[in-house]
Amino acid sequence: MTTTESVESFRARARAWLADNMPRIDPNAPHLSGDDPAHWVRARELQQKLYAGGFAGICFPAEYGGLGLPHAYQQAFSEEADGYEMPIVLNIPSFSICCATLLEAGSEEQKRRHIGAAIRGEEVLCQFLSEPSGGSDLAGLLTRGVRDGENWIINGAKVWSTFAYGADYGLCLVRTDPDKPKHEGLTMFLMPTRAPGLTMNRIRMADGTDEFCEEFFDNVVLGPEHVVGQVNDGWTVASRQLYHERTAVGGGSIFTSGYAQPPTRPRPDILDLARRSGRGDEPEVRRRVGEAIAMTVVHRQLVDRVSAGIAGGHLPPAAASVPRLFHAEESESHADATVQVSGAAIGVGAEGDEFDYASLHFLCRQAGSLGGGSSEMARNLISERLLGMPREHAADRGVPFNQIKRGDR
Ligand SMILES: Cc1cc2nc3c(=O)[nH]c(=O)nc-3n(C[C@H](O)[C@H](O)[C@H](O)COP(=O)(O)OP(=O)(O)OC[C@H]3O[C@@H](n4cnc5c(N)ncnc54)[C@H](O)[C@@H]3O)c2cc1C
Repeated sequence: MTTTESVESFRARARAWLADNMPRIDPNAPHLSGDDPAHWVRARELQQKLYAGGFAGICFPAEYGGLGLPHAYQQAFSEEADGYEMPIVLNIPSFSICCATLLEAGSEEQKRRHIGAAIRGEEVLCQFLSEPSGGSDLAGLLTRGVRDGENWIINGAKVWSTFAYGADYGLCLVRTDPDKPKHEGLTMFLMPTRAPGLTMNRIRMADGTDEFCEEFFDNVVLGPEHVVGQVNDGWTVASRQLYHERTAVGGGSIFTSGYAQPPTRPRPDILDLARRSGRGDEPEVRRRVGEAIAMTVVHRQLVDRVSAGIAGGHLPPAAASVPRLFHAEESESHADATVQVSGAAIGVGAEGDEFDYASLHFLCRQAGSLGGGSSEMARNLISERLLGMPREHAADRGVPFNQIKRGDR
């Protein structure tokens, strides 16, 4: 869509619409965690409101239900939406990873049907990639799909699927030709999360949340309309999906509306913790608080710079690994700093108070260095694809998958 409306006029219109239509965040209302089914009902309602108001899918093409506007319009809307309830939980992975991937690799029918439904708040998508045997070596996955006439019969298991219980479809990478080398015999499917033969369990984490799921596929039957891209070319689709994942997790997706990160457990406020701990005057505490805040500012600026570089063609898509890696460093540094500035209070906080909350947050400190591919894999990508260093040795390169030596056979 071409628009004659300026960003500033769009911003003013958004400001007025938000004030009239969207509920303000109530700081005293109990926080609805991502685990809570009510959160998903609410997120869909809010998305439907955005759609009805003409502010949904701002950067998605108009032919698939979006507004087809440049990122500057989305940024203006997100700034204006600060302080309002927004369907943030739909940002990652549904819009910024799954819909972004479908937009590039899906059939015309898939794009019209699923991207449109997501923008209208009728459908949510998730990712079925990692498996119990490991997530870093994604191309080595074991879930298999066997042809049965024009259908596919899927058997196997996936794990760590964020928010899958709130989703309607999962982008599921499956081995469809084990005679080919591991990257060449894969196919991407758009699998209904409630397909007969699919069993989904929630996984409870150390901090009490259960946003992750595991899925078992027992003879799940999928028709050819569920294939995304070409049969046995799933790695091409997965590579773009991983690019969108790194971009989204790094904070640079154009398809997120409102704050980029899902607020399943918003971060503790480090300045507030320092003040409440009574240690705000200690030089070391002040240094840690300053360092943590500086890391956050640098992260935002790095995201803007790298996103602009990729969009303008000055940087290759692999550069998305840089903010992705920095996101992990920043979030780990923030988690460490909250413990350091809290002092002894971190261990003795009353249930539900800020210090208790900070200690729970620390338990999932590592999430940022695994979600969206691990930090080690991000470093590999940066060294090989950005800095041009030699590729990591892979004994299985070019070997038919069914001839690769594995521990289980
Ligand atoms: C917050 C979060 C959200 C997630 N969401 C999803 C999701 O929605 N869908 C989904 O499918 N998965 C999801 N995952 C899973 C995630 O993709 C995997 O955790 C990740 O890819 C790593 O896989 P793994 O945990 O099996 O570790 P492994 O692959 O077993 O790796 C173990 C360790 O070995 C290191 N390692 C492995 N290979 C190499 C190598 N070649 N060089 C150097 N180091 C290496 C890794 O860096 C890691 O430290 C999520 C994970 C998190 C934490």
